[in-house]
Amino acid sequence: MMDRTKALVVYSGGQDSTTCLFWAKKQFDQVFAIAFDYGQRHLVELEAARKIAETADVPLQVFQLNLLSGVSHNALTDTAIAVESDKPEHRPPNTLVEGRNMLFLTYAAIFAKVNGIHNLITGVGQADFSGYPDCRNEFILSLNQTLNLSMDYEYHIHTPLMWLDKSEIWQMADDLGVFVIVRDQTVTCYHGIAGEGCGTCPSCSLRNRGLNKYLISK
Ligand code: ZN
Repeated sequence: MMDRTKALVVYSGGQDSTTCLFWAKKQFDQVFAIAFDYGQRHLVELEAARKIAETADVPLQVFQLNLLSGVSHNALTDTAIAVESDKPEHRPPNTLVEGRNMLFLTYAAIFAKVNGIHNLITGVGQADFSGYPDCRNEFILSLNQTLNLSMDYEYHIHTPLMWLDKSEIWQMADDLGVFVIVRDQTVTCYHGIAGEGCGTCPSCSLRNRGLNKYLISK
């Protein structure tokens, strides 16, 4: 029997995890959120996360994880590295933060167990797979097993966006009644500009393509 009482959302203040946050509120009695400060360039993301969590009436805990930017260098945490404007062909983009989802989910799982929560929710997906290996379904299934074994506890990792493309994620936000919140308040842009963003970085391009596709199909 699936326990539907409590769930913990791994939250970033971006489009995907915000959609997951409101999805979780429909699915579970009590929703909690956890976010990480890992030296990402734009603390505006965490500010957005705090504000949206408050609007959603979801308690949010933010933890320091600066170690992550110390052990590896990438364009999201190191201002000396420019964000690539085009997607490289044979390797992940330089915005990849190695191991990020595994670490986030592991810390989330520890926090969940301490608080009697069995459900973990993450906004990763592989439909718009941009070369991030830890967004793949195979990885999530594997980590779920590992977490269960490592803590002798039954976790359910939910990935409501796993097979949705960006336009379908906009649709989901709209169906949940939070389209405007997601459009105006989330931060997805690699340059840390809220809402519609800079419009040109790879993350904005993906987001805006999906939004246009959704608005045309509506
Ligand atoms: Zn941008």
